[in-house]
Formats: sequence, structure tokens, C-alpha cells
Amino acid sequence: MPMNNEKRTRDDLKFETSAIHNGLEWNNETGAVIPPVYLTSTFEHGNPGGFDYTRSGNPNFRNLEAALSSLERAKYATVFASGVSAITAIVSTLKSGDCVLAEENVYGCTFRLFDQVFEKFGVTVSYYDFTDLGNCRHITEEKPALVWIESPTNPLLKILDIAAIAKGTRQAGSCLVVDNTFASSYLQQPLDLGADLSLLSTTKYSSGHSDCLGGAVCTNDSTWQEKMIFAQKALGLQPSPSDSWLVSRGLKTQAVRMERHSTNALALAEFLENLQDIEMVRYPFLKSHPQYDVAKGQMSGGSGIVTADFGLSLEATMQFCKALKLFTLAESLGGVESLVCHPASMTHASVPRDVREQVGITDSLVRCSVGIEHIDDLIVDLQQALEQVVP
Ligand SMILES: *Cc1c(COP(=O)(O)O)cnc(C)c1O
Repeated sequence: MPMNNEKRTRDDLKFETSAIHNGLEWNNETGAVIPPVYLTSTFEHGNPGGFDYTRSGNPNFRNLEAALSSLERAKYATVFASGVSAITAIVSTLKSGDCVLAEENVYGCTFRLFDQVFEKFGVTVSYYDFTDLGNCRHITEEKPALVWIESPTNPLLKILDIAAIAKGTRQAGSCLVVDNTFASSYLQQPLDLGADLSLLSTTKYSSGHSDCLGGAVCTNDSTWQEKMIFAQKALGLQPSPSDSWLVSRGLKTQAVRMERHSTNALALAEFLENLQDIEMVRYPFLKSHPQYDVAKGQMSGGSGIVTADFGLSLEATMQFCKALKLFTLAESLGGVESLVCHPASMTHASVPRDVREQVGITDSLVRCSVGIEHIDDLIVDLQQALEQVVP
């Protein structure tokens, strides 16, 4: 086997270095600095890499898994076709009669999967507000198979105390899953905080360029790792080699992107907070954030999402979103370009209205995914759009 195919994953490197120097195996004898995309469905039997069929493994998956596990400070990572595939992989390990306790502000597609798919298979889910640590008593009482949280949550950016919830989960003998998509591997390491599984939609900040889809589950537990590898092949949840290559490329710049996302978003949040008629601005690193101290304690930056309630009617809110020129009205987040989203009619349209309003997702709520453009241009754009709807 060529020398370059030796396992290069190194744990002693800082994030920035690790992102660039891990996950470079399988580059053959060509000396290619970047390994190619392995566009092959199958492999010759008995090859030294142990590959057989791409649904159960491909050099591009292995490279991405090596890079992601080093960045999440995990022993293992398994990659999937999307964040939703990664969620499916975890939930598919449950059996009828198992129960899950989930944060009430869980990602819309996670809620839909629990509600419309897994409930049919006898998995029950109870939702709680886990910013209230008193609700951890339900973990102790119910001893669920899984505790499912996100921090920051979408779209209200609630911050949950991962270490405190992990402690309760461990005492109950349950498994804590943290969806780390909004924080990103660069700003938050759930496994270090005591989580059992860290889930990523690599579609977002890991890839960072809105040009592919992917998901991953990271863990230090070999039993969970075996279950994830099984789910990858048995349920057909594997990504494409091309998308895996794109996520691998994105990871190399993740550190610098996250720094800029975070400084831009903080500046934008401060600008919005100083507007006269604004009802509410949420950003984890704004002092006014209800869980500001928890955010500062477990994240090294505030990430790129800012959520605001301009107190406008539904029509005026939509008009504002459409009047923005640099923020494209679109679902998703985490790309270099700024996006704006109207959660009630877009990402959370599948959540029933009463549930939605109960958790604070009103018609006047707007979520910005702040990109890495120049902050002055972004603020000018917000100003001009606001002037069009607020005379
Ligand atoms: C986007 C997202 C997902 C789903 O990921 P896909 O790649 O779109 O399937 C899951 N969780 C969170 C928090 C997300 O933002």
C-alpha cells in the first residue's frame, strides 16, 4: 500500500491544522495533494483497503469520517446522505415501546420524523423545555432510551446546558444526543461536554458553501459506532462520494469561516438590538440573551444565526424578507452567503400552528443566517429593507 495511505489522523493538532491535515488517505501513488472523488459503486474483492460496495464504504467517506472525528474530538464518525439520514440512523436503533425525551424546540424535520414516521413503529416522544433544568427530573423518572437536544435551538436560539443535561442522562443510564449543527464543530464539542452522540447536518457549517448535502454522527462509544455503520449500509443512508468530497473540502476553511460568521452575526445582532421598534433580538453572545452565561461557557463563539421579531404583520414581515437584496429568502443556513428565513411559513410549516406558537414561533419572526460578506453591506441591506416596510 502506498505510504500516503497510512493512517494520518492525529489528535495532537489544533482544529485549524487538523481540518487541513486529516482525512487525506487513499490518494494513490500519484502524489495528488488532494485525494480524488472515488466515483465507483463497487470494488474488486480482496483489495487491501477492505472496500466492497460503496453503500457500505468508500474512500471518500473514510476520509471525511477521519476529518470529522478529529474536529469533534471523537473516536468515531459515520457519514450519511443528510442530517435527516443521520437522525434516521440513530432513531432506527430503537424498538417499539422505547421512549425519547426531546427538547420542545427541536428541529422541524426531527419533530416530523418522530411524529409521522417513528411513532407508527411504537416509539413515543415527550417534549420538554430543557432550558429549565428542573425538567431533567423527567429523565430520571422515565429513563428514556434517548434524550434528544439541540443547542442553539432553531429558530429561537435557546441555549441548553449540555454538561448539566449530560449528567442527568448518565445517571438515568440513558443516551444523550446533541444536534450540533447550529453551533458547528468549531464552536462547540458536545462529546467533551458529556454527550454520547454528536449529530451534524454537514450540509450547513461543515461544508459551508450550500452546494451539497450530508450528515454525520460522532461518538466515543464503539457499540454506537457499530450501530451507525450498520445503519449506513443496511438502511441505505450513505452519502454520495462527490458530496463527501465537497464536505471534506469545506472543512478545511471551517475555522476561518466560523470566526467571520460569528463576528458578523454579533455585529448584526447589536445593530438590530439598537433599532427603536424591534420586539426581540436573539443571539447567543448578546448580553440580553436569557442563557448568555451558558452560551459563553460552552461555545467559543456565537455562530452565524440571528433571530429577530420586528413586531410586524405577516404581510409586512414577508415584504421585508423579500425586500432584502443580499439575504436570499431560502431555507437552510451555514453557507458563506447570507440567507433569510421565515420559520412559520418555511422551516416550521410542518409543525402544527398551536405547537408552533406555544414555543414562540410567531408570524413576525425572522431568522437570518449571516454569511461572511462585509458586515457594512449586510447592515445597509437590512436598513433599506426595513425602510420599505416601516415608514
Ligand atoms: C438542516 C438541519 C438538519 C437536517 O439536515 P439535512 O442535511 O437538511 O437533512 C438537522 N438538524 C438541524 C439543526 C439542521 O439545521
